[in-house]
Amino acid sequence: MTRITIAKGDGIGPEIMEATLKVLNAAGAALEYDEIEVGEKVYLSGNTSGISNEAWDIIRRNKVFLKSPITTPQGGGYKSLNVTTRKFLGLYANIRPCTSLHPFVQTKHPKMDLVIVRENEEDLYAGIEHQQTDEVIQCLKLISRPGCEKIVRYAFEYAKQYGRKKVTCFSKDNIMKQTDGLFHQVFNEIALEYPDIETEHWIIDIGAALIADSPERFDVIVMANLYGDIVSDIAAQITGSVGLAGSANIGEECAMFEAIHGSAPMIAGQNVANPSGLLQGAIQMLAHIGQVEIAETIQNAWLTTIEQGIHTADIYKEGSSSKKVGTQEFADAVIANLGKKPGTLKAVIYEKGSSMVLKKYERKPAKNKELVGVDLFVHWAGTNPNELADKIHQLDVESAELSMITNRGIKVYPDGFPETFCTDHWRCRFKNPNGLFTKQQILNLMRNAEEMGLDVIKTENLYHFDGKPAFSLGQGQ
Ligand code: NAD
Repeated sequence: MTRITIAKGDGIGPEIMEATLKVLNAAGAALEYDEIEVGEKVYLSGNTSGISNEAWDIIRRNKVFLKSPITTPQGGGYKSLNVTTRKFLGLYANIRPCTSLHPFVQTKHPKMDLVIVRENEEDLYAGIEHQQTDEVIQCLKLISRPGCEKIVRYAFEYAKQYGRKKVTCFSKDNIMKQTDGLFHQVFNEIALEYPDIETEHWIIDIGAALIADSPERFDVIVMANLYGDIVSDIAAQITGSVGLAGSANIGEECAMFEAIHGSAPMIAGQNVANPSGLLQGAIQMLAHIGQVEIAETIQNAWLTTIEQGIHTADIYKEGSSSKKVGTQEFADAVIANLGKKPGTLKAVIYEKGSSMVLKKYERKPAKNKELVGVDLFVHWAGTNPNELADKIHQLDVESAELSMITNRGIKVYPDGFPETFCTDHWRCRFKNPNGLFTKQQILNLMRNAEEMGLDVIKTENLYHFDGKPAFSLGQGQ
């Protein structure tokens, strides 16, 4: 028996949860349930995170959480429970299978059957934003080696577990050579441990275009957080059935499973909602906790039901559907099909007796880190970079030479183009032409800048790691 936490959520949440649990229990899932309250009622009681401390305790104790959609009240101050849960529980992997159900659900891509594995914790979603000048705001994109290793390894282990043949990496490392460069590099490193799995890499823009055009060419695709957020919605939508998809959020300790759709308040309480999304999340949950046979039985019964044309209103179509049913009747039809396999749609076969074993992240020995310079970011309202350079030269710190000034990454000094548009946010790069840099030089630069009335809004140290430059150059350099 596995004890799990459930939350019935808001809107259609309670009725799709009832239908889902009915199927799980009828299939003999060895589950016990603790129910918690999350969502609208909790928000409106004055708790801005939508979840109580007692509920957190239960989620953390049981470690597995099946969650119905919730309604986040309109207006400021309410935090997204999904984002909070993912981050607090370290749910680093978001898994979204996107499979078309042609010819039973209409789609332009009848052969589509791919899985998006999205990093869930870092990237631009670290939520670190600062306004630094009147004109410029910054959002930090954080990509870590453990973050990359964990998500890429998860993608390969997932492929192994589910008999998938290829793992593709999407990144934008032609532009973001350091951050996305690390993601791609880690992908290449880990791929070597899985010689039986085919691998490929696409720059995200052409990769996304290929998904829209010919998704059947992909199998498992791994990518960083923001790309995964966007691409997984596109992929789910073009299966023709965004309302039928489930998603898993997996961490080292805990995991959360859900439908990808929201609480659909307009149709709540009418027994018309499709429970398939939450049921798909629950099937992923059963596979995750090792109840693989039951997961397989339910999935095949569900495919059989779709194939029989027994459809809820959202996917019912005169001609291709045979019977329009309500939420609970759909669940009853799935239960009646337990033990059956689909005829046209591909039946699923999950690998038995083995669950995913994920190697723990091991920190590598520290590299040799050398300070070679500093970028001083300056808020300056002028427009001519040569004028700024004249001021900066007066900072006069020994062995600290101004090597360039950039504006939004474009080199504007020396030898800038007069056509380049400049904001009030300037990066002034200092290096020591004779060797390494010191923290003392940075302090001296800062002190002299302060005395001169130059508005330094931040600094970034420039390092070499094992002799290699580990910072971006100015575009145009
Ligand atoms: P939604 O997914 O709830 O609804 C979009 C459309 O799809 C509506 O027409 C709805 O009737 C339909 N639909 C959705 N699920 C369906 C189902 N199972 N069966 C039949 N039809 C279905 O998106 P929305 O309207 O943008 O959001 C409504 C609420 O849900 C908002 O408060 C939003 O914050 C919340 N939401 C929650 C989650 C979550 O908890 N994971 C995710 C997305 C949105």
